[in-house]
Amino acid sequence: MDNRSLIDRLKDTHSLEREQWIQLIDTFTDADREYAADTARAVAQGIFGHDIYIRGIIEFSNICRNDCLYCGIRRSNTSAERYRLDEDEIISCCDAGRRMGFMTFVLQCGEDGAYPAQRLAALVQRIKERHPDCAVTLSAGEMEYADYKLLREAGADRYLLRHETASEEHYKRLHPASMSFSHRMKCLEDLRELGFQVGAGMMIGSPYQTSGDLAEDMLFLGRFRPHMIGIGPFIPHKDTPFADMPAGSYELTLFILSLCRIMLPHVLLPATTALGTIRPGGREQGVLAGANVIMPNLSPDEVKKKYMLYDNKICTDESSDKCVRCIDLRLERIGYRPVSARGDYHV
Ligand code: SAH
Repeated sequence: MDNRSLIDRLKDTHSLEREQWIQLIDTFTDADREYAADTARAVAQGIFGHDIYIRGIIEFSNICRNDCLYCGIRRSNTSAERYRLDEDEIISCCDAGRRMGFMTFVLQCGEDGAYPAQRLAALVQRIKERHPDCAVTLSAGEMEYADYKLLREAGADRYLLRHETASEEHYKRLHPASMSFSHRMKCLEDLRELGFQVGAGMMIGSPYQTSGDLAEDMLFLGRFRPHMIGIGPFIPHKDTPFADMPAGSYELTLFILSLCRIMLPHVLLPATTALGTIRPGGREQGVLAGANVIMPNLSPDEVKKKYMLYDNKICTDESSDKCVRCIDLRLERIGYRPVSARGDYHV
């Protein structure tokens, strides 16, 4: 079957065989990518119109016990200047975000031992009391079932935990032996069972990734059916073992975004900061390829540069309100509008 027919088939049946995914990934042309983007954009517009959900992301600690080989805030990076915001600082960011129209706050961090589940749960509760009409999304890494349960009971609505790669062999090349593929997958199952809206996802072009690995990612996403999918290109960070590895492909990232939208029409799909980092206007192209979420950075200005997962991350030397205005303009230029709404997952 030719690539266009595969894209049509994905639209009709919402699934493909492993070999078909590999064919698409290995042989797609610019014309195939445009065809997928047109299809994905029509699917997204049919559900969301020209509305883009905005989520304010607050990167509240870059202290991390893990040592993921790709990540700029890995434990072994002694050049990273570490910081941790306290509850009052995080809440001020949410308050400021609410005034700017945000109704989802995404709290992201390294796996910081000083923020165990109990402390995070108390924080979530305070945020939900102040902003009962808003959603709280956590992205705080791997925990145990009882921890996630505490967070859910405290009122957290959503949890982002990219699976990073659905191939165990590949997982082992991206992470130290102390981390386990099966535990990360179990976390995703636990989160779903607890009633979170769950986000999975992966980097495109992470070191050693093959088209077979990426096919496994697509098969996994089709099976697991997450509510959200976070996808961005891998971008090297100078102080990691992957400093000299090439960045992921911009075109492949856009293509995969479109295929995700076509496979899971209702999924919440951000145009990520990493996509905007490898190419100016990348996030806008992400929206035109089927993304429907943008996550401006609401972290305090002093820490934005310290949450460096990869080199040259954009939006780190602008104040949050300037960043929000910039996104508004960018969306307007392509005929979309940011909406002030929780933007929950609906079928
Ligand atoms: N500690 C949390 C948050 C991790 S940072 C957790 O474990 O989920 C959020 C995401 O950034 C990661 O899941 C990873 O996919 C992405 N990321 C990390 N390093 C990156 C890099 N060098 N290039 C692109 N994306 C990266």
